[in-house]
Amino acid sequence: MYLFVAMKPNNLNIPVSQYKRIVILGGGFAGLNLAKKLINTHYQVVLLDRQNFHQFQPLFYQVAMAGLEPSAIAFPIRKMFRKSTNVFVRQAEIHQVNRENKSVKTDRGVIEYDYLVVALGAITNFFGNEEIAEKSYSLKSLGESLLIRNRMFEDFEDSLFVENYEKRQGLIDFVIVGGGPTGVEMAGALAEMKRYIIPKDFAELDPGEIDIYLVQSGENVLPAMSAKSQRKAKQYLEDMGVQLILQDRVTGFDGLNVQLKSGRTLKTEKLIWAAGITCPQIQGLETDSNNRGRLEVNRHCQWTEDEDVYAIGDVALMKSDKYPYGHPQVAQTALQMANHVAKYLKNKDKNTTVKEFVYKDRGSLATIGRNKAVADFPSFSMGGFLAWMIWLWVHLFSLIGTRNKVIVMINWMWSYITYDTALRLIIKQKK
Ligand SMILES: Cc1cc2nc3c(=O)[nH]c(=O)nc-3n(C[C@H](O)[C@H](O)[C@H](O)COP(=O)(O)OP(=O)(O)OC[C@H]3O[C@@H](n4cnc5c(N)ncnc54)[C@H](O)[C@@H]3O)c2cc1C
Repeated sequence: MYLFVAMKPNNLNIPVSQYKRIVILGGGFAGLNLAKKLINTHYQVVLLDRQNFHQFQPLFYQVAMAGLEPSAIAFPIRKMFRKSTNVFVRQAEIHQVNRENKSVKTDRGVIEYDYLVVALGAITNFFGNEEIAEKSYSLKSLGESLLIRNRMFEDFEDSLFVENYEKRQGLIDFVIVGGGPTGVEMAGALAEMKRYIIPKDFAELDPGEIDIYLVQSGENVLPAMSAKSQRKAKQYLEDMGVQLILQDRVTGFDGLNVQLKSGRTLKTEKLIWAAGITCPQIQGLETDSNNRGRLEVNRHCQWTEDEDVYAIGDVALMKSDKYPYGHPQVAQTALQMANHVAKYLKNKDKNTTVKEFVYKDRGSLATIGRNKAVADFPSFSMGGFLAWMIWLWVHLFSLIGTRNKVIVMINWMWSYITYDTALRLIIKQKK
């Protein structure tokens, strides 16, 4: 039973309660899962996010490639808490944390907390290159996915008006930077678009003119996966016509030409940056610059600087013997840390000991294209059709909301049977 005592207007209009207040910053995998686990507990929970929906990042590239509509991989945060009386959701941009008076400053006002949980995820790391940050595309939000989709189809449309070969190259070629799962999945999806979609939609365009480059600084793609998966993924990409540029780096991009460290220049107006992440910096939560913005936490996800502040998900850096540089920044880590903190907080005042967090590695997967994926499990690796089926299954069932699951499944079945994706619309905001 939730008790309302009084309203405090400077607290984002959240009622004052007899219960302690947990403020969760970020409604991604970690924050949303934690709030869900705290429904109907002896806490008042306030969940803050700049967006009113949760986004399923692993399928961003399918939105960018026009395989899925954004609404199929987004879920309204409020919907999850319709029946709860102790969880309050506020759409707000978080600006600052004041640990002295235990409050968070947002663009909508200030809120006080008893416990603070930071679950702000990660942002694209451009390694200080302002020009690349300004002119390239990245894939960290649904908005950015749509930006890529619009730009790609606009450029294909524009290319039909261009007689000059060089100029046309700039419009139809792609350079992807970063050979991690995002870069590999993007490159594979583009190769399939070149093979199956472009000849149908843009019959006047020679698909042979479309170059897809994937630039990776290391010797192999998917550096976090096993050698077997790396080899297989490389083979798949090459077979699909992706031009791999390994052991080289992108050093500059003026919007027309991509400069590589080796001295090579690639012509494209679309540079897709998937080369690294860092964490958002919030005033009051400053961290060691060596931690790439992550907050160092103990084995209960408590920030080493302040035991009333917890960090979970991509933003948490928990060092252990097995993970001396922290856990992989993936959805499983976020979900498992959220479960742990929920358990810890529920038992906090009960004198019960909660075992320290131990990450359960359930394996990693990356898809390259139709019937082609690689999978690493703790004791074995596999590739091909079976790995692809596992990838489809895992992603389908990790999506939030039955409606989303059904829509995505129908889309995937349709694409598999017809070799086509349904949606190639250029929809832009009108000023
Ligand atoms: C393209 C892509 C593909 C991926 N593929 C996979 C995959 O296949 N498998 C896998 O396991 N993982 C994958 N990941 C990683 C996975 O998505 C992350 O590890 C996971 O989302 C981390 O969860 P989180 O809750 O820590 O952060 P997020 O899910 O990023 O949530 C952070 C939330 O904080 C909010 N926020 C941030 N700053 C502010 C602010 N200042 N004010 C208000 N709100 C704010 C954001 O709006 C967001 O809702 C992928 C990531 C990307 C980008």
